Order: sequence, then structure tokens, then C-alpha cells
Amino acid sequence: MPGKKVVVLGGGFGGARAAITARRLLSPEHEVTLIDRSRRTYICGSMPLLIVGEKDALKASRSLGQIRNRGVKYVQAEVTQFDPENRVLRTGPAKYEYDYLVLAAGAEYDWDAVPNARAAYSFYNLDTARRLRRALAAFNRGKIAIAISGLPYKCPPAPFEAAMIIRWALEESGRSNGSEIHLFTPEPAPIPVAGPEASACVAADLASRRIQLHPNAGLKEITADGRAASFTDGSNVEADLIITVPVHRVARVVAESGITDGKAWVPVSPASLETARTGVYAIGDSNMVMMANSRALPKAGIFASAQGEVAGRNIAAAINGTAPAKFSGEGYCFIAYSGREAGRVTGNFLAPGKPEVEFEQPSRSGFRAKERFESDWRRFRL
Ligand SMILES: Cc1cc2nc3c(=O)[nH]c(=O)nc-3n(C[C@H](O)[C@H](O)[C@H](O)COP(=O)(O)OP(=O)(O)OC[C@H]3O[C@@H](n4cnc5c(N)ncnc54)[C@H](O)[C@@H]3O)c2cc1C
Repeated sequence: MPGKKVVVLGGGFGGARAAITARRLLSPEHEVTLIDRSRRTYICGSMPLLIVGEKDALKASRSLGQIRNRGVKYVQAEVTQFDPENRVLRTGPAKYEYDYLVLAAGAEYDWDAVPNARAAYSFYNLDTARRLRRALAAFNRGKIAIAISGLPYKCPPAPFEAAMIIRWALEESGRSNGSEIHLFTPEPAPIPVAGPEASACVAADLASRRIQLHPNAGLKEITADGRAASFTDGSNVEADLIITVPVHRVARVVAESGITDGKAWVPVSPASLETARTGVYAIGDSNMVMMANSRALPKAGIFASAQGEVAGRNIAAAINGTAPAKFSGEGYCFIAYSGREAGRVTGNFLAPGKPEVEFEQPSRSGFRAKERFESDWRRFRL
């Protein structure tokens, strides 16, 4: 049998896992290529700690160059065109034909969707997190507003986690008294995706830390000076620091290919992660998988990684003629409360009927589990 060409677009949580899995299960005549514009990628789960100076950026990153040690061909380039008709990706002048493709380009941020969002702060990528870290270091009591623009957004607990970590850091440095923290969410309660029990626990934990929750309030607009915001429920806030969770959208190169079929995210089979195009898989933040309660599966690295494993296995199964794998929906998401303690939402998010998830209370062992998770990611074990 002639060697097959497997190409993976994106080397984040999902793409790296897919490439490593396919490579491990395929014999050497088959080629596995991973294309990513960035050589160094960052684990966003570390950003809420990075903004208060508890993490350094290098410890939150890994180099895709190392993936070559696993036999994966790594190309550092921007994919400028994906042509599903001709089964080819283009990176400027170079083209990559494929027999099997994994779309793992994640979600990108639309900073122009909310007027003046760029004038405010964020922590949803390394550059914005570094800028916010400088602002928080210089902050000496006042009002902070964290505002979620809309749904879906990556890692549903992240804004709540950031609020609690900021309160903890202010307390540690004696700047808490006289400081208000407000959190605006378009949803009726914190992380409803984790179920009513977890949501109620997080709401109580926010209240006990004097973090004022404003439900049903999606971010609408920010003033040009970045110091005032208005919300979909008609409310407004003025604050010393406004921190936004940006509007998310599917990566442009994926959207332009037409594979989303007019939807916001790439439609896939929830079990196999294959798209309507045979041999083309879409995993992680780029797709939308629905849960039994009609909510979308959260966009989280743990699911992107598990889906990468399934896509890699299914490509190997198609080539080797073995049994395919299925995405189970089991996973977890940490929610750090400080630089010492973390809770966890864990369970089967694709259970029939409704997601079966539990909330593990914040603890020091939870925080150590979060650190192990990040260290596994740095070593390409996730
Ligand atoms: C603040 C924050 C906290 C988070 N905390 C957690 C957490 O605690 N636990 C958890 O599980 N998840 C967490 N997440 C979510 C997690 O980071 C994402 O869900 C995960 O990274 C998605 O993986 P992915 O492989 O789909 O995409 P990504 O990891 O985003 O990777 C996409 C890759 O594609 C590349 N790419 C895109 N377009 C192109 C192109 N045209 N050409 C070349 N390369 C391209 C990008 O460079 C990138 O490396 C958090 C996210 C944020 C923002």
C-alpha cells in the first residue's frame, strides 16, 4: 500500500495529540505533518495565575520543535488556504496535499466585535495577560470589572477563577480592603454548564470573597478610554480596570473553506469527530459538539486533547483497517481559587439525558493536580 499523507492544522492541545497518536499507530511509510504558525505555544490555563505574577510565561509554554522527536514532521508556517475540494492546504507558495486531515486551528478572538474592546484589558492570550499583569501590579485599590462578551468562550470557569485569584492576590498584598470586584456574565448563573450544584457553589464562593456577580449581562460596548462599559441588560459600570473575555469565532482559514456549512463552528460526528468530508476531522475549539441538555460541550483543552487522541486513532484505524475509537465526553476542568488551592469540575459531559458532572471543592491537592496537568501538557503527554 502506498504511504498516506496525514496533515494536522494547528499544534495546540488537540492538534499535537492527534499528530502524536497517529504517528505512534502508523508504520513509517505513512507521513504525519503538523503545521502551526507558532513554534512556542502557551497553556492558557496558566493565564489567571500569570496576571497576578504567580506564573512565568516560559513555564506555561512548550516548543513544537520537540514534536519532531516523536517522528512528526513539523512545519512552522501560516496556513493561508484550506481547499477541501482538492484536499490541499496552502501556506503561501507551498502546498500540502493530504489523504487525512485534522483541523485543530482552535478559536480566534474578534476584538472588534465589542466597540473599544482593545482599550480594555484581557487575559485570554499571552500578550493581553502580560499587559494586564503590569496593570494589576500598579493597581492600588479601586474598582475592577470582569466582563464576558458572549457565548461560547473558552474554559467556562476561567473568568470566575480570575476574579477569585485577583481577590486573593489583593488580599496577600494588603490591597483588598477598598477594592471592589464585579463580574458580568451573559448567563443566568456562573458556569451553568457544570450543573446547578457546581454553579451554586461557585456563586457562594464568589459572594464570600466580595465578588459581585451580575448575571444576564453580556458585554455590549466599552468607552474609548477603556474605563466604562455597558451591558445587554441595560446596566453600565465605570471601573479602574475593565477586563474582558473576548468574542470567539472559528479560525478564519477554516471559515473561508466553507467546511462550517454556514454554521459558526465546524459540524462533526460527536463520536468520530469526522466532518461531512471523508477523512477530514475537526477537533477541540474549532468544532461544536452538543450535550444532551442542548448546551455545547465546553471549549476546553482537556476535551481538545481527548478529541485529538480519537481523531489520531480513527485515522490510523482507517489506514490500518482496525476498529475506530469514540469520543466519550469524559473530562474535567480546574478552577483555581488562589495560587494554593484549586477545585475541579469533573464527569461525563456527554452522558445520555444530561451531563453527569461533580464539583470537587477547592483544595491544595486540587492545586497540585492542576500543576501535574500543566506539566503533562508541557511534556506532550496531553
Ligand atoms: C484563560 C484561559 C484559561 C483556560 N483554562 C483551561 C483549563 O484550565 N483547562 C482546560 O482544559 N482548558 C482551558 N482553557 C481552554 C484551552 O486553552 C482551549 O480549549 C484549548 O487550547 C483548545 O485546544 P485546540 O487544540 O482546539 O486549539 P489551540 O490550543 O488554540 O491551538 C490552535 C493552534 O492552531 C494554530 N493556528 C490557528 N490558525 C492557524 C493558521 N492559519 N496557520 C497555522 N497555525 C494556525 C495556532 O497557532 C494554535 O497553536 C483555557 C483557555 C483560556 C483562554
